[in-house]
Amino acid sequence: MSNTLYYLNKLWLRFPALANVPLPRKLPVLLGNPTTPVLKTFSIATTNICNAKCVFCAYPKSLDSKGVMSDVTFENALELLKSYGSDITYVDFTPTVGDPLIDPKIVERVERVKKLGYKTTLTTNCILLTAEVAKKLLLYCDEIYISIPSLTRDDYAQVYGVDKQLDVFENLSYLIFAKLSRSNTGNCKIHIRFRNKLKPSEIIRSLTFQSLACYFGKDITFSFTSSFDNWGGAIVALPKGMKLRTKGSTRKIPCKGMGHVSVLHDGTLRACGCRFIMSQHDSLVIGHVTRTDKFAVRSELERLSRSFVSGERPATCKDCSFYDPAT
Ligand code: SF4
Ligand code: SF4
Repeated sequence: MSNTLYYLNKLWLRFPALANVPLPRKLPVLLGNPTTPVLKTFSIATTNICNAKCVFCAYPKSLDSKGVMSDVTFENALELLKSYGSDITYVDFTPTVGDPLIDPKIVERVERVKKLGYKTTLTTNCILLTAEVAKKLLLYCDEIYISIPSLTRDDYAQVYGVDKQLDVFENLSYLIFAKLSRSNTGNCKIHIRFRNKLKPSEIIRSLTFQSLACYFGKDITFSFTSSFDNWGGAIVALPKGMKLRTKGSTRKIPCKGMGHVSVLHDGTLRACGCRFIMSQHDSLVIGHVTRTDKFAVRSELERLSRSFVSGERPATCKDCSFYDPAT
């Protein structure tokens, strides 16, 4: 995938207009048992607090109480993770909503998991990324995803709901320079995801983008998204330039999203680390780290999978256009 992005990035930089051509939707991948998604990625969402209010995200509408994971809950999450042995190799610190850098202990937590031998990743909006944090994350993360609308101030404020473009550009520069610095010994790959309202060719031609373009390459890549899902129906309209995907028709096959089990900041275990409508404490909850083991997780995933097949699927999944069939 990173090679594909590398060559796409080269093509986009050479011919900006090509960046406006949408990519074909990823083909579904067959994952083991066709009726129950296989748990491959374990998410530890150490906070559900965010410092942005993106127009394409359900965070501003969330009714959940906000918080940061306690040390005890983090230890419990690690115990459950370790019980999977080598079946899980990848740990994602990206919360369903919230920015991981809001958690003051995020660096030490990622370091801890990395030192246990897992591959680690997180997505951040970069608003709180200091030079110091950037250097450490580059050591302990295998992949860092940066989520931004574009590098123009008005676009940032409109799409992310806060006037933080200047900070983000500065912080992104720290990260890129730290990555390219001789003292950086990590192998982390950085990927910038533009959630764009502007046309990709407009972003590429902007002065801010051009000032970073010479640093893009195999380890620092970018991509564009102008088509967004509806968060189970929570998002009903988007600004001009952003396309809202409506729900697909076939829902009898379980969603691949259920293979992305997430530990929420309060220890709740949820079968989908991607989407919710008003609350993450919904029918996709499958237990709690203090009392649910990996066998109970499996049995809950099977129960939810059967609910898709029988047509009684969870309410959050009914109209979710992020649905991705597991077969
Ligand atoms: S998309 Fe991410 S940065 Fe934006 S409001 Fe949602 S959680 Fe926050
Ligand atoms: S349909 Fe949507 S809410 Fe349901 S598991 Fe898939 S991504 Fe998550």
